[in-house]
Amino acid sequence: MAVDRIIDGELLSEQEESFNFSLRPKLLNECVGQESIKEKLSIAIAAAKQRGEPLEHILFYGPPGLGKTTLANVVANEMGASVRCSSGPAMVKQGDVMGLLSNVNTGDVLFIDEIHRLSTAVEEFIYPAMEDFKVDFTVDSGLHAKTINFPLKRFTLIGATTRAGLLSAPLRSRFGMLYHLDFYSSEELTAILVRSAKLLGLKYEPSTLEMIAARSRGTPRVANRLLKRVRDYAQVKGSGLLSSEIVSSSLEMERIDALGLDDLDRSFLRALANVYEGGPAGIDAIAATLGEERDTLEDVVEPYLLQIGFLRRTNRGREITQTACKHLGLKYHTKKNDQ
Ligand code: ADP
Repeated sequence: MAVDRIIDGELLSEQEESFNFSLRPKLLNECVGQESIKEKLSIAIAAAKQRGEPLEHILFYGPPGLGKTTLANVVANEMGASVRCSSGPAMVKQGDVMGLLSNVNTGDVLFIDEIHRLSTAVEEFIYPAMEDFKVDFTVDSGLHAKTINFPLKRFTLIGATTRAGLLSAPLRSRFGMLYHLDFYSSEELTAILVRSAKLLGLKYEPSTLEMIAARSRGTPRVANRLLKRVRDYAQVKGSGLLSSEIVSSSLEMERIDALGLDDLDRSFLRALANVYEGGPAGIDAIAATLGEERDTLEDVVEPYLLQIGFLRRTNRGREITQTACKHLGLKYHTKKNDQ
């Protein structure tokens, strides 16, 4: 269900990847928003450059599409370093990690996406790499097993995760800088869209980018994806100009409402309101009702609903709020803590 979801953080097609790539800021001053993170990063980068040392390891965490990969690449560019990318699920064996680590040069950035999904064995294998820039690599097995101590160049590991809570304490403590990325304001998203529209050579009525920004769930990836859908629609149904009529009809066709909610958000809230009388309901139960993955709900549906006050997370489960019921025209079951 909803695999091709506009807000989905994963499953980028090749075309989508190259589209994202072309819009991805390369330097800190091209990045919009996240001011406090940018300031701290620019100080750390300037200091490391002055000392002629690589940067400390960095962890970026927050919901999908907020710019973790972008910032990792920006940091590498600002340091004048190359970046090698991998992801938690792709690093299965010690050998996979060795392949990456033995090729990094001094100052290079090793980017590991979804770092919370590293196996314990791989995680333990990279601790000495992060701390002392060496690894103990086991060759052969059984009686012939030998551990070889392998020195590495000093590199910077940048990890990204949507679930900082799932990171083990030892791994987390090996990062020198930990930054939580926040949702973007409508003004910031509009600025991102102005930049993207310019890069794509689009003609638009100014209010249209604000309209798209307001429906982008605080997320640059969603903003850029909506812009792409609207661009296609304007090209086929109109003259290519993004006018307010074209943008409204295109967003209506995508079934995105005025707050940026789509079918999956609405099904989630409706299930909670109708099947579970507004909650509290466990996330596994809601996932089973919707036939969706629990991870998808936790990563891409809930963060925004929590942010806009449509959902409450209590220790007994999820609860829908009165505001959400009002928005969707649903019956609200008064909760004990409402009184
Ligand atoms: P994440 O790694 O957190 O899932 P990405 O770094 O892939 O997110 O960002 C998704 C897209 O959003 C990028 O392709 C980029 O075009 C855009 N983007 C992200 N952050 C910014 C920013 N600060 N300013 C402008 N565009 C951004």
